[in-house]
Amino acid sequence: VMLITMGVFWLLSILMSVWMSRLTMRPILRSWGRQTEFVGNAAHELRTPLTIIQNKLEFLLTKPNDKIIDQAANIAIANSESQRLQKLTHDLLALARSDSNTLQTNFESTEVADFLQYTVEPYTEIAASQGKKLVLAPVPTFKAVLDQDLIHQLMNILIDNALKYSPQGSTITVTAQPLGRKWQLIVADQGIGVTGRDRARIFDRFYRVDTSRSRQTGGNGLGLSIAHWIVDLHHGTITVRDNQPKGSQFVTTLPVNPPKNGHHDAKK
Ligand code: ADP
Repeated sequence: VMLITMGVFWLLSILMSVWMSRLTMRPILRSWGRQTEFVGNAAHELRTPLTIIQNKLEFLLTKPNDKIIDQAANIAIANSESQRLQKLTHDLLALARSDSNTLQTNFESTEVADFLQYTVEPYTEIAASQGKKLVLAPVPTFKAVLDQDLIHQLMNILIDNALKYSPQGSTITVTAQPLGRKWQLIVADQGIGVTGRDRARIFDRFYRVDTSRSRQTGGNGLGLSIAHWIVDLHHGTITVRDNQPKGSQFVTTLPVNPPKNGHHDAKK
């Protein structure tokens, strides 16, 4: 009986330690898995434009007597793919910084109306050149503490997307308003919209609803995960909802006075 009891205890303790080590290992394994997936996705995204550029250059080498004008189409493709690579490396660096938590933030009290005017303005011309309209609705006078570079980057991502995913002749509206101790920034478009389960997933790294469409418009599926990280650094939230009668609204809610420290773990 003694031997059997000891055996049972021994077995139980082994089972317990295996279970405990699984518990402690799980987050490590999960983050390792996420990193491997991230590196795999990144390598895949880098390889595609690189292969295209290489093919185009190799083809040009077989035509040493052609004039540039004869090969303008191929050169233009190589050029646009190198721009895609540049944006991708830029975005990957931003995400690497978000993972390492080494970013020096610079939170300062900001007059929101002026700041938005300054960030939205350059886009009105870009929108017009695409036959679209970008409107900044009148913003009431209020101040909020924010990192201007980061919120500028957030605006760029949201307006870029609104332009990418909406048709000619449509209007994109940016609004901002104070809501007690918070404030809200809304970028609304009349484009293709985001439905159902995609609403949560579009903030994941590399997630695209329609990969080929996104690739055509120069997308890499990283913009909204960077947007999510920026909002998280400000202790805010970002969600997407339907715009009426069509399109989507990206709603960012931020505290007027974000806490100075605190840990954020919303790596997407
Ligand atoms: P991408 O570089 O592909 O645009 P993002 O991370 O910025 O990557 O966005 C992820 C996906 O979310 C996009 O591929 C697109 O499917 C969807 N999306 C983002 N913004 C909009 C929008 N304004 N309207 C419709 N779909 C959008």
